[in-house]
Amino acid sequence: MDAGCLCQALPLERQLDVKSVVITHSHMDHTNSLPFFVDNVFGRIEGGVTIYGSEPTLYSVRKHLFNSASWPDFSLLPNHLEPAIHFESFEDERELVIGDVSFLPIAVDHVIPTHGMLIESGGASFLWSSDTGPTQRFWEVANRTPNLKGIAIDVSFDNSLQQVADASGHLTPATLASELEKLEVDVPLYIHHLKPFCIDAITREIEGVARGRVQLLEQGRTYRF
Ligand SMILES: [Zn+2]
Ligand SMILES: [Zn+2]
Repeated sequence: MDAGCLCQALPLERQLDVKSVVITHSHMDHTNSLPFFVDNVFGRIEGGVTIYGSEPTLYSVRKHLFNSASWPDFSLLPNHLEPAIHFESFEDERELVIGDVSFLPIAVDHVIPTHGMLIESGGASFLWSSDTGPTQRFWEVANRTPNLKGIAIDVSFDNSLQQVADASGHLTPATLASELEKLEVDVPLYIHHLKPFCIDAITREIEGVARGRVQLLEQGRTYRF
């Protein structure tokens, strides 16, 4: 899911295992390695790679990345009959099944159309917010999902940058605290998407939120639910 650093995170051989990429929104920190990834695996993945996104996300990815100017249009290469990439759109709250994992896209509140995902596999569900400011439906889905094992939620800025967070559709520890009043289930909460210069302050400010139930999602660590 998402491809902000797919090429940096996975060695080449593992990139060949990636047959599908689900994109939550078109911002560059979620898409910028997609062109290089497709270039790396071009001609090496039978049937090509499928890129899933909402209609607005795919429109933007095609127009601004795979537009023949920024990067080749790999949906026409090597030919339009057997292209290296396929674009498939998803819709709000219509289940998308890829292999043995299902994704339920949930519209969240960011500055452009963005979807969080309820991800389900092997009887366990996990809720991923993508980028969002204060939102509603996401928490309703959390409350009505019986096998929910955890939630990852965007906290990009510390409290001193509340105005920036509000203007850019992100949360701070303060707005997370009020968001959590909408959550009725007791599951672990992991924060992600921290801006590098805000990490220390967020780490301090998050301590008192939700009686210590909130932790930072760690880069490079494997989580099993
Ligand atoms: Zn974003
Ligand atoms: Zn982002």
